[in-house]
Amino acid sequence: MHSPHLPLDILRSSHWVFDLDGTLTVAIHDFAQIRQELGIPEGDDILVHLAGLPSSEALRKQERLLEIELELAGRTEPAPGAVDLVTALSRRGAHMGVLTRNTRGNALRTLERIGVLPYLDHADVLGRDEARAKPDPDGILQLAAKWGTHPERVVMVGDYRFDLETGRAAGAATVHVDTTRSFRWPELTDLAVGSLAELGGALLETGAGIRRAVPVRRRRSG
Ligand SMILES: [Mg+2]
Repeated sequence: MHSPHLPLDILRSSHWVFDLDGTLTVAIHDFAQIRQELGIPEGDDILVHLAGLPSSEALRKQERLLEIELELAGRTEPAPGAVDLVTALSRRGAHMGVLTRNTRGNALRTLERIGVLPYLDHADVLGRDEARAKPDPDGILQLAAKWGTHPERVVMVGDYRFDLETGRAAGAATVHVDTTRSFRWPELTDLAVGSLAELGGALLETGAGIRRAVPVRRRRSG
């Protein structure tokens, strides 16, 4: 698919949406194991599967999924370069959101643990109850509207096909972060990087602002 997004425009963007698990964090979700524990067939979409179950079974399994996610959130680590990238974007005054299939509560807990929460507006962290699940573009469209910009000016950063499809569906630019550097979805990718550290390095080369990063809460009150 042709995309009009140029790498330099992407790096200069002031509107960024990040996937959480495996993008801002080191991937520790073992989805195969989660499926096994919840009795979900291999390859099935976990959220879609649960939504299709009889209500009592769905409720029980959704509660178990929350427990698993909570446990995972408690031992998550930031991806290499994640904190530097977020602070660099904060320095240039960029809007940043997080779009995850996790719950907002878990996402906020995780973002706090990895040290980037002070640079984000909590309302810009959209979980599975705030936006339709990726690859639906709903989350990006919501954030773009809130930020008063066009979805085409937003950059979606993620480690998985869903993230890139979400970006494409919204008309946003897409950045694929792949530590294996195999970059499996070139047709969905505008910019491919091996890590957020690499993305942050490219960002600095474009001459991003050098003001001090200011935590959102302080920026609001001051
Ligand atoms: Mg991910």
